Amino acid sequence: MEHRPLDISRDTLEIIEQDFAGLYSGELGLSSISGGQTAADTALANLDITGYAGRRSEVLPRSKRGASVLSPYIRHNILTLDEVYRAVKTAPYKDREKFRDELFWQEYARHLYARVGTRLFENLRFDANRDAQGHGWNREMRCLDEVLSELEDDGWLVNQTRMWLASHWTVRNNVGWLQGQELMYRELIDGSRAANLLGWQWTVGAGTGKPYGFARWQVEKRAPELCGQCPLNKACPIQEFPDEVSLPQVETDALLTHDPDPSLSAGPSEPIRSADPKYVLLTIDSLGDADPALVANPDLSVVFIFNTEALTKLQLSSRRIGFYLETLRDLSTRRDLLVFKGDPYDFAQSTPVAVTFAPVPSFTKFTSIAELHPYPWLKRPGSGSVRSFSAWRKAH
Ligand SMILES: Cc1cc2nc3c(=O)[nH]c(=O)nc-3n(C[C@H](O)[C@H](O)[C@H](O)COP(=O)(O)OP(=O)(O)OC[C@H]3O[C@@H](n4cnc5c(N)ncnc54)[C@H](O)[C@@H]3O)c2cc1C
Repeated sequence: MEHRPLDISRDTLEIIEQDFAGLYSGELGLSSISGGQTAADTALANLDITGYAGRRSEVLPRSKRGASVLSPYIRHNILTLDEVYRAVKTAPYKDREKFRDELFWQEYARHLYARVGTRLFENLRFDANRDAQGHGWNREMRCLDEVLSELEDDGWLVNQTRMWLASHWTVRNNVGWLQGQELMYRELIDGSRAANLLGWQWTVGAGTGKPYGFARWQVEKRAPELCGQCPLNKACPIQEFPDEVSLPQVETDALLTHDPDPSLSAGPSEPIRSADPKYVLLTIDSLGDADPALVANPDLSVVFIFNTEALTKLQLSSRRIGFYLETLRDLSTRRDLLVFKGDPYDFAQSTPVAVTFAPVPSFTKFTSIAELHPYPWLKRPGSGSVRSFSAWRKAH
């Protein structure tokens, strides 16, 4: 690990350009969605989900969108699901129920990933095209170009257009979903393996057997201004829906229906202390002021380590790294914070740290943690089925 901490008081783009060369992909730039607890708290304070149920899938004009744009904060637990769930208690019934249902989809994704781990990179229940090589997005189509430009410029998309991209890539163009999800994951500032893999698997039919079809119909309904500007308006490659298919089943993992040891997925329910921590170590799965390890140790300095090995491999966008830097800079106004590039697992091995559990496979790389704190679940994982959202809801 580099011994000198990064000076995060510098301009964000300058830090990325100078200190993250080779560790990110694409053009240098920042999302219009700011990172940090302060920005998250403002977004939550301004949250008004009136009309959400009817408008969550609107794409253009942007003023018609009903989506909350809270996902970058929720994904990193800068806002916990529980906090957001409670914040909408006085909203109109229909909107509140629909919105809370989506929060449960997020929680379901976390439970599923915690349960099956890297098995979520394989077809879960039905045999969708996972591996065929190629490129499934035609930028001559105005609808796809618009969506891809928003993804590249802002690192964020509404749910509807994420489905368009996933469906067009695999269901229409027969390119393996694994490669498509990786491209999207790099760009999304809310990118999480749990929700992104779930979103792709469910859109391409690997979760349900029924692929989601994307056609001109959705564009005219959700973004009516686009077709008129499209060079392919008169030769639309998605004029008709793709043929409906039912995918064959794959052999499913027994873990999908029953977890013999849910405590492995859920992590500890109480703090576990084996030594006095010297620092609080934050991970990207918990970057909020309410991080349990942070709250339990108000006087300790805080460390965040950009994992150089992971970043070299993942090649995340500069927008995503910028979001983390903004979040850390905001935290540094309230806590003594040291930011490094290096290996967080080595650091925890050689230095006693307090860490909050994260329900992701890479967390097992921590072989030594002085003080381990529980993850802030909305519903603590049990042993019941995670085969489908409805089965999981019944069990939770
Ligand atoms: C192909 C594909 C890839 C996706 N990749 C991601 C990802 O990497 N990270 C991510 O957080 N979400 C992902 N989603 C889910 C969803 O699209 C986003 O969470 C949502 O669009 C974020 O916008 P919002 O905050 O305005 O959501 P809102 O509609 O305002 O919903 C509120 C919150 O509920 C949760 N949520 C909403 N819809 C879903 C959903 N379908 N699945 C899981 N959680 C949901 C999010 O935390 C969101 O912030 C993906 C969906 C698809 C179809």
